[in-house]
Amino acid sequence: MRIIIFGPPGAGKGTQAKLISEEYGIPHLSTGEIFRSAIKNETPLGKEVKAILDAGDLVPDNKVVELVEEELKDDKYRDGYILDGFPRTVPQAKAFDNILEKRGKTLDAFLQLDVPEEELIDRILSRGEGRSDDSPEKVKNRLAVYREETKPVINYYKKQDAVKTIDGVGSIEEIFERIKETLDNK
Ligand code: AMP
Repeated sequence: MRIIIFGPPGAGKGTQAKLISEEYGIPHLSTGEIFRSAIKNETPLGKEVKAILDAGDLVPDNKVVELVEEELKDDKYRDGYILDGFPRTVPQAKAFDNILEKRGKTLDAFLQLDVPEEELIDRILSRGEGRSDDSPEKVKNRLAVYREETKPVINYYKKQDAVKTIDGVGSIEEIFERIKETLDNK
């Protein structure tokens, strides 16, 4: 199964992606986690993207697409994966379609976690993960970037009839139940 989990910052994508990964036995590919780990390990990629992540801005499309395309070559993704944090712009979505097409694969579901904006800031500030991009100013910027660059990705996938909207308000378990119901009835 090839799944995209999508939503604004603070929607709970990472948490739900981990649960989906365990339940369906597919690897979890988080571009944000790849970047954070590169920064922590001070790799060349980490040095390149640190200031961008710290500001809550987006890494350039070509860099992200190249990274995902390379990563997906790993054999562990052969039978499927859950993408978290990618695609985050319409050009990335188009590039991902090309990657799928080149490999003769299709997307099974685009799960859109729906959470009202008012809830997002509180959630991020209270989750206390200690991320350098979790301060109030950075969070505001990440939400603005989401509205302008990332949200249009929903319409891109609506045109493909791939969007499954999940109510993202509730407990982790409740939301995961909704996701399972959606994926199992696909
Ligand atoms: P996330 O963990 O998904 O919230 O991502 C954390 C940060 O990594 C984002 O605020 C961006 O700076 C960067 N990032 C992650 N995925 C992407 C992507 N697909 N395109 C551009 N930047 C990304």
